Amino acid sequence: MRITRIEERSVKLNGDIANALVNFSEHTISLVQIHTDVVRHGKTVTGVAFNSIGRFAQSGILRDRMIPRLMNEAPHALLTDDGSRLDPARVLACAMKNEKPGGHGDRAAAAGALELAVWDLNAKITDEPAYLTIARHFKREVHSKRVPVYAAGGYYYPQGDADRLQSEMQQYREMGFTAFKMKIGGAPLEQDLARIEAALTVAGDGSRLSVDANGRFDLKTALTYAHAMEPYRLRWFEEVGDPLDLVLNREITDAYGGAVATGENLFSSHDVKNLVLFGGMRPKLDIFQMDAGLSYGITEYVRMLEQLETSGFDRLFAYPHGGHLINLHIATGLGLGGCEAYPGVFQPFGGYSPDCRLDGGYVEPTDAPGFGLEQKPGLDKLISNQT
Ligand code: MG
Repeated sequence: MRITRIEERSVKLNGDIANALVNFSEHTISLVQIHTDVVRHGKTVTGVAFNSIGRFAQSGILRDRMIPRLMNEAPHALLTDDGSRLDPARVLACAMKNEKPGGHGDRAAAAGALELAVWDLNAKITDEPAYLTIARHFKREVHSKRVPVYAAGGYYYPQGDADRLQSEMQQYREMGFTAFKMKIGGAPLEQDLARIEAALTVAGDGSRLSVDANGRFDLKTALTYAHAMEPYRLRWFEEVGDPLDLVLNREITDAYGGAVATGENLFSSHDVKNLVLFGGMRPKLDIFQMDAGLSYGITEYVRMLEQLETSGFDRLFAYPHGGHLINLHIATGLGLGGCEAYPGVFQPFGGYSPDCRLDGGYVEPTDAPGFGLEQKPGLDKLISNQT
């Protein structure tokens, strides 16, 4: 088999929402398609994926550097030993040719989109959902297709208040979610506490509500919030300070009894190594949110998990950032703690397809071949328009 063509398309996200630091209305995503000469059911097989939600398309890096490297490579050099499919690690290594180590920024998301498209392709070649391909590759059994999921939202809308937040959470509850996450840090502390209390009227108690500061706080503000929120006994306090400020993270885990969550802005296994060595993360309590689509794909994500497990952490405390179908398959295939969902926002990429069963705080992937992105309304049109 060989790759015949690789397409990249920058797609704008729907929605005018903001967290503590970022307005998402300008954000874009790289939708990648790897076309091959493999024929199944009378059609050539195409691997489809995207990087992740909440950042930008990586068109330049993909079109100018990575896609030409793959197209110029001898086809057999990208294949598994038996030649039956693309080898994700070999494709990643080729895409990264002549790139220096370190500096894991937008490049990691560009490579992630390509590498993930390989997993979608390989699953479609075998006619199976991607979580099975992922599990088999890493010699894991899938014990359950039911993945714990929480609804992420609670942004600062242009015209919003605590009532609006409450009704948003209520909508998520009616969809079948039992756990929720909201943003903090975009308003004064008193206003954020009122928002948390409004959300708690729907969540029931703090164990079902997390808060996300999106890396905004300095140490003093972080400690003030931690102290003020401690009585709520929230599920977790996410991205308290700058993602690379490991000293701040350690100071917070020293001072705050509840769980903290971080990792969505760490893009390599070396970054994760530093987090577990120096960031004060506590086994069986704190949450890791690295996202394969932002960090070179599943090949590197599994190295991150190995880093965690050799340091005494449990993969059940890994909840990838980015509530979408790709991470649902990754969480299922690798036996992670769960994943998030953006049911109301970031369309057409956020959330799951209508056939994914959502009930009692769990979501199940379907058995559609690959990641099942073709089953997602809105996304299906973008995919079929490209061919
Ligand atoms: Mg976050």
